[in-house]
Amino acid sequence: MMYFPNSAEKFRRLLESVRGLNVAVFGHVRPDGDCVSSMFATADTLREAGAKKVVCVDAHPLPRLYKNFAFGEEIVPAKNFDGKNFHTVCVDCSSFSRTGAENFSNLPFLATIDHHVSSGPSGALIDILEPDAAAAAELIAGMHLDSGISISQKNAERLFMGIMMDTRQLTTPSAKYRTWEIASELVKLGADPAKVARELYQRESFAKIKLLASYLKTLTMHFDNRVCIGLLESGVYERTGAEKADSDGLVDYARSIDGVEVAALLEHIPDGVKGSLRAKDPKFRVDEIAAKFGGGGHMAAAGFTAKGMDINTFYPQLLSAIEEHLREIDSAKKK
Ligand code: AMP
Ligand code: MN
Ligand code: MN
Repeated sequence: MMYFPNSAEKFRRLLESVRGLNVAVFGHVRPDGDCVSSMFATADTLREAGAKKVVCVDAHPLPRLYKNFAFGEEIVPAKNFDGKNFHTVCVDCSSFSRTGAENFSNLPFLATIDHHVSSGPSGALIDILEPDAAAAAELIAGMHLDSGISISQKNAERLFMGIMMDTRQLTTPSAKYRTWEIASELVKLGADPAKVARELYQRESFAKIKLLASYLKTLTMHFDNRVCIGLLESGVYERTGAEKADSDGLVDYARSIDGVEVAALLEHIPDGVKGSLRAKDPKFRVDEIAAKFGGGGHMAAAGFTAKGMDINTFYPQLLSAIEEHLREIDSAKKK
């Protein structure tokens, strides 16, 4: 039985094609745990496959929370990378617009390894897209297992971490039996769930908790308490000392409220508003709402950046997009 029969062959082709090449592995802007683990594990496997030089590149730095999964690997800031004589691979995203490093989109684009339902064809030589995978890390681990390519203990730990972070410890609707199977294979290969959990959930910075407090203070209910929206306003990072990656997961607190069906976090950024959307039931397609504002993601977890907007003018636009979708869902239920 193969985990990813449509992709494992492509993965093997990628490993054959990197021999002797310099490869830059790109992740998306503001890398999350899935992105970081996927970049690092892929980089190791490409080296093992005979690539000459492999570097991980991202527009944003390695978040503090994932430093103990680096095992000596680094993220080269995109602004310090010249790209000369490098081929590119994107993980946990399919386009250079998501990497925030568009200037590298003209390098030979070898492959994407992605799991976002909103991703179209990437234009890479080898397109690996499995929207059913709950995490890019699940897909990457699965393709290794399908192909009999060994996974070191440190990569088992990284990939296990990636799966945990994209599935809220294997409990999102996207986490299927296959996800649990692959996660357990990673445990067999040396990932220690208790250690990973300690790293992820018992090492928060105090600054992040202050950021959470300021988000919670702004939570507002709409539409009979079915929708909950909170804000990260201008200056909040400076005030709390938090890093940008600390916003990851805050929106889950809004979603966690009983009766809330859709949650949002709107963050002031210098050129607009960054939005995170979460649903409880994937029938409420937050990826479709995000797409209305130029973003994308998964059915129950999506994001976007509304350029040139400020939170006050954008807020009612988001509300009406959500209201319209709620109405569609309600009328479909009545039928
Ligand atoms: P976030 O709310 O930023 O944690 O993002 C939720 C999910 O949507 C993640 O899988 C992101 O990779 C994805 N996502 C966020 N922003 C965008 C965007 N602008 N375009 C496509 N996917 C996005
Ligand atoms: Mn991600
Ligand atoms: Mn992911």
